[in-house]
Amino acid sequence: MKHFLKRIQSKIYEWWAMLGMVVWDVVAGVAFICVLNIALWNVESMLTKVGILTLVIALILLSLVVKYVQFYGKQGRDDVTGGKNKKEFERVCSRLLKGEGEFVVVYANIDRFKLINDAYGDDEGDVVLKKIHQIIDEEMLSWDEASGRIMADNFGMLMRFLSMNKLEHRLARINEQLSSLKDKDGVEYGIKLYFGIYQVVDKNESVSAMLEKANLALKRVTHSMQHLVHMGVYDEKDKKQLGREKELEMKMERALRNGEFIPYLQPKYELENETIGGAEALVRWMDPVEGMIVPNEFIPLFEKNGFIVELDLYMFEQVCRLVEKWNKNGYRIIPISVNMSRGHFSVPGFFERYMQILSRYDVPDRSIEIELTESLFYNEMSMLKELIDKIHEAGMLCSIDDFGSGYSSLNMLKEVEVDALKLDRVFFKETEDNKRSKSVINSVIHLAQDLELRTISEGVEVRSQVDYLKEAECDYIQGYIFARPMPVSDFEKIAFAQAN
Ligand code: C2E
Ligand code: CA
Ligand code: CA
Repeated sequence: MKHFLKRIQSKIYEWWAMLGMVVWDVVAGVAFICVLNIALWNVESMLTKVGILTLVIALILLSLVVKYVQFYGKQGRDDVTGGKNKKEFERVCSRLLKGEGEFVVVYANIDRFKLINDAYGDDEGDVVLKKIHQIIDEEMLSWDEASGRIMADNFGMLMRFLSMNKLEHRLARINEQLSSLKDKDGVEYGIKLYFGIYQVVDKNESVSAMLEKANLALKRVTHSMQHLVHMGVYDEKDKKQLGREKELEMKMERALRNGEFIPYLQPKYELENETIGGAEALVRWMDPVEGMIVPNEFIPLFEKNGFIVELDLYMFEQVCRLVEKWNKNGYRIIPISVNMSRGHFSVPGFFERYMQILSRYDVPDRSIEIELTESLFYNEMSMLKELIDKIHEAGMLCSIDDFGSGYSSLNMLKEVEVDALKLDRVFFKETEDNKRSKSVINSVIHLAQDLELRTISEGVEVRSQVDYLKEAECDYIQGYIFARPMPVSDFEKIAFAQAN
């Protein structure tokens, strides 16, 4: 129903814009003909008069027809590729799906397209996207199938389904052509698509729901010898997950209003004396029926649907309130960190909302730390620098979370003035080459020291790692070896008892 109303609304806008254009053109046309009539006042021959007027009117009508055809042609075009945008793709697909036979919806993502944008710049990145679209579109059967750009470096395809094997061959053919795309100097870009495949069951379902399913299948892409391309196929497990996601989405807003999201605190232990020197606020969803739901089950979903922005702000407020309470009660200040998700960055001026919350509480300086995940530092650098300055101006601290989990460089550390570095737990997974990973940890810690950053090691579970980190002069440990995330009241007992 919501979908249907949205479609009607956008149709009304479309017709309204069209009506505006028509009214304007008619007024301009009539005015022009009147002026022409006056200009022809002195022409004596009626035949010449009528001839000129007919010619002019015919020309006006012709140009209007061309204009409207172009107007309609451009609607639904994607600026970058010149092909169909998501809306147009969905429109065409719903028409094609009325045909006989079986179909699949394929969601394709370019493997590490960011590297191309980084290496060649956005403009050339756009040119490459256009070429990729061309290759994909040429693989489509012109009357029966369709392709379009869904967003960023993601493409959608509606294809006839004969067998999985035939489909794989066609997808492999696309990848083969993509792999031979070259830059100006004849160097191959090395482009490859990953595919999520949804075999259409109910042709009346909305195409955007089909795309969602294909996209979900894409998340589980594997490259087994069984397949010719990297692909994932939507199956029962995905169906369950999608059902679960819908269920959580239905109740998330009410849950936030009802205070079902609760901050847990996981202590950070100072290594020098093994006492609590900080904590991270980690959310738990206390559902009245299901009991506790852990973040891994809902944070990725909230990141996808944007709800994370509200949840982060809520958690931030909870932490402000807590710190204010501790301060009033005369407890020692234990800095608490909160996670700030990537979702905020698409909202210009989002930090204002943080400032408004902060201004409502009496929070001492340096008692709240904002954790920014490492992956933000790949492409939001200039925005981040500005944000970090604002965080500091507001009297808060700032750290890089999950450091080492992606492919950020050590150089990046020199560019941003954060206060702390949280080494991701990948550093502490038992590896075959422990000596090597120790030396990596050592150099990261020493570089951080040179830059006057505190270091926090996350996910430490065994004593030998604690000893080693002590030796390497890491500042804090946040890991199960010392404590798991716990309710605030439990934290208060151990943190403030310790101080007395
Ligand atoms: P994170 O920010 O990296 O948080 C640390 C996670 O590692 C926590 O999981 C914590 O319980 C877990 N952990 C700590 N020590 C150990 C250890 O020794 N071994 C193991 N195996 N795990 C350890 P948790 O609480 O389940 O949170 C998972 C993720 O969910 C967090 O990872 C964070 O990315 C996200 N998250 C949690 N709360 C929030 C929030 O309020 N906002 C946002 N944006 N994300 C949150
Ligand atoms: Ca964190
Ligand atoms: Ca982390």
